[in-house]
Amino acid sequence: MENETVSKNFIENIIDKDLAEGVYDTVHTRFPPEPNGYLHIGHAKSILLNYGLAQQYHGKFNMRFDDTNPTKEKIEFVESIKEDIKWLGADWEDRLFFASDYFDKMYEAAVKLIKKGKAFVCDLSAEEIRAYRGTLTEPGKESPYRNRSVEENLQLFEEMKNGKYADGEKVLRAKIDMASPNMNMRDPVIYRVAHMTHHNTGDKWCIYPMYDFAHPIEDAIEGITHSICTLEFEDHRPLYDWVVKELEYPHPPKQIEFAKLYLTNVVTGKRYIKKLVEDGIVDGWDDPRLVSIAALRRRGFTPESIKMFVDLCGVSKANSSVDYAMLEYCIREDLKLKRPRLMAVLDPIKLVIDNYPENETEYLEAPNNMENEALGKRKVPFGKELYIEREDFMVEPPKKYKRLFPGTEVRLMNAYFVTCTGFETDDDGNVSVVHCTYDPATKGGNAPDGRKVKGTIHWVEASHAGEVEVRLYENIVDEEKGVYNKEDGSLNVNPNSLTKVRAYVEPALMEAKGYDSFQFVRNGFFCADIHDSKEGNPVFNRIVSLKSSFKLPKA
Ligand code: ATP
Ligand code: MG
Repeated sequence: MENETVSKNFIENIIDKDLAEGVYDTVHTRFPPEPNGYLHIGHAKSILLNYGLAQQYHGKFNMRFDDTNPTKEKIEFVESIKEDIKWLGADWEDRLFFASDYFDKMYEAAVKLIKKGKAFVCDLSAEEIRAYRGTLTEPGKESPYRNRSVEENLQLFEEMKNGKYADGEKVLRAKIDMASPNMNMRDPVIYRVAHMTHHNTGDKWCIYPMYDFAHPIEDAIEGITHSICTLEFEDHRPLYDWVVKELEYPHPPKQIEFAKLYLTNVVTGKRYIKKLVEDGIVDGWDDPRLVSIAALRRRGFTPESIKMFVDLCGVSKANSSVDYAMLEYCIREDLKLKRPRLMAVLDPIKLVIDNYPENETEYLEAPNNMENEALGKRKVPFGKELYIEREDFMVEPPKKYKRLFPGTEVRLMNAYFVTCTGFETDDDGNVSVVHCTYDPATKGGNAPDGRKVKGTIHWVEASHAGEVEVRLYENIVDEEKGVYNKEDGSLNVNPNSLTKVRAYVEPALMEAKGYDSFQFVRNGFFCADIHDSKEGNPVFNRIVSLKSSFKLPKA
């Protein structure tokens, strides 16, 4: 019953129809990255979509590296991609494949096309092929090599494979239609000569299949039913269908395109990220200011938050950009009840309680999460000298200021009421110490006589406080100027994207290890950095502040 109210996306509608009409009797999807960089939030969408559909329809999900292009591919990326997909929770079980495992079958497929008179070896140069291709308004011209005999083509193709020709000297082309309005159908190149070492097959091959030829074969070999890709492949679909049809696969897969996920004010292009890394603006592919999956993980995002985000984005046929604030909304929602709320002071000034006994420490009880009792309670040390946020004290406050200023009383969270009695300044006139007195009867944060205070501020006891590095972030690109410079296409880098502060934190936080995350009361959600945290000496990255500009649209 419940499901009836949930409307399905267009891909689910296609699948439902296919199953109802018996086009397929199962659902089998795949994620086919090229191992030429780190995965980013856009790939996460594709992974979760493909894996989610397989789960929803009790089908299967394959992991396949599309490693048909040996120049750009690296083993390092294969490993990082596997790690990221596992972290996201997508499970390929025992179905991890490499397109390069199918090179023999692809070669046989090409031979089959030649034998059917559907492919030919062409001696035109790359430039000539381009010139012969025509334009969107004019048909192309047939290659003078188009009518070679099957025997000659078979022999030449075998010679290509055996290394007789130099790179670019000959190619194998599909014989389709030079007058097709779809440029992809004008006798596309399907195999090229490239004397390169492949990370998987070594020097076995000196010819490599082109993507548009290889991809449908990979899908068909694996029994993929719904081959989901992004919109830029829409014009390639007729070629995809041509390949599976001419090769006579018994259960041809179906290509379905959806719109890529774009985020505002975020850099996803591999080329740009590489430049940021090379220029030393970020400290690697997993710098927390980036949106590679590794970077999001390091920053403290959870797989659950990314899944929630992808679900909120939905699946569409129209390109659009999603506000980064929506991703922030998702991580706040995910962590708010799950993680403890502890106290940390990011911009400290000293608060001295003049009527509190010297050298005394008492341990006050504090709930770990006011909204989730299941997280329990902890003891927090309290004493005569504390740190509070500089912004929580003002000498001459504006009207509605609810925190500490001379003569007022506020609550120290989970502790006592204190009344400000004065302050000291340094040589530059900046406030260096704030003085107050406390009311011992208000222990726990309430006055027995029922008197109220307007503000509650957080604090950390000075002698037990841990001192840590905390990293605060802004967008890596300048929001006002936009991501790319209109003149030269360079990135508009925000010079303030990273701020490091020395903060004081309550002792419990000093035990944090890489990836542990917390709410720091009033300051946001933070995660211990996986690279730079040392045992007993964590470094914290701010995942997100508590303030949100994002409102979930009404369903
Ligand atoms: P990029 O251009 O960012 O390098 P890509 O498309 O070249 O990405 P591939 O490794 O070829 O990266 O992509 C693997 C899969 O991820 C493809 O099916 C592709 O369509 C999908 N994908 C890539 N970027 C996005 C995105 N922004 N949103 C959704 N899916 C994406
Ligand atoms: Mg690619």
